Amino acid sequence: MSIDDGELFTAVVREPGDVALREVYADWLEQAGDRRAGFLRKYLEVARLPPDFPARIAHEAELSRLRTGIDPDWLKVIEPERAYQYDSQSAPMCECYDKGAMRRDRPLALHHESQDTECDAWKTLLDRVEQAACDQPAVFAPLRNLEHGHLIVTLPPTIAKLTAVTELTLYGSNLVRIPPEIGQMTNLRELTPYTSYRLHWLPYEITRCRRLSNSTISTRALYGNRKHGPRFPALTPGEYPAVTRACSVCDRVFHDVGRYRVWISLRVATDVVPLLVNACSVACVDSLPAPPDGYIATPHLGGDIAQPPLGRWG
Ligand SMILES: [Zn+2]
Ligand SMILES: [Zn+2]
Repeated sequence: MSIDDGELFTAVVREPGDVALREVYADWLEQAGDRRAGFLRKYLEVARLPPDFPARIAHEAELSRLRTGIDPDWLKVIEPERAYQYDSQSAPMCECYDKGAMRRDRPLALHHESQDTECDAWKTLLDRVEQAACDQPAVFAPLRNLEHGHLIVTLPPTIAKLTAVTELTLYGSNLVRIPPEIGQMTNLRELTPYTSYRLHWLPYEITRCRRLSNSTISTRALYGNRKHGPRFPALTPGEYPAVTRACSVCDRVFHDVGRYRVWISLRVATDVVPLLVNACSVACVDSLPAPPDGYIATPHLGGDIAQPPLGRWG
């Protein structure tokens, strides 16, 4: 079957955001005995998960297996957020920017693109983490000289094993998220995600890295420029899929329905950064430290709340 077959596919091209239409298309593919039905259904499932959803990487691994062998031209239509990974050898500036400046007309995106776990770059990254878990080097730069490193949008949860690493260098990465397991890198003193322009937030768990004293973070990616602080992505608790997870604050395992999911701006080493908190209770939200002067003074849900243009500008 070629890419031009089917009125439904043409409709999906025209209405890329129409989820119901995509579900109808998946039914149609299934009835046609087309294996892309399984991929499309899994894609729709993963697309509903927040980028920091626990075990999201396991869902992405299944999606990656289902993706194997499918025509890239079809995939570019179904997963437009990943289209650049086929067309370019480098990470593009995300659409949160317009001519190098943060857009004013909408909040930053919580980038949802999934990690391709079947690509060689990911497999090499996993190997590098395992090697580092054995060697425990002081400095770990897992993406340095990594072929097709632009395909890496997250770090694996196995970074939890890197308990002796003191410096994590992620310069120039295409990362859109860092997993909460970074909080288990308890010897971390220096974090350098500098020029990772698509990384707009960090997990609150990073505050467990108590020795972290030096960070080089592109605040331009997090807070825009001196004139303009972009709005935070809106958190919509009602849309959060229920899951069992550990509380970002007290580490208690609980049944999470996203009720206490908030943003807070706190100093992490050298920089003030937006942290995403998945708390178990109002008590844990209330126990969050106070943000520095000039930042939104309380935990909040993002959306229409603008971040005051303060902080270090990079
Ligand atoms: Zn962005
Ligand atoms: Zn808690």
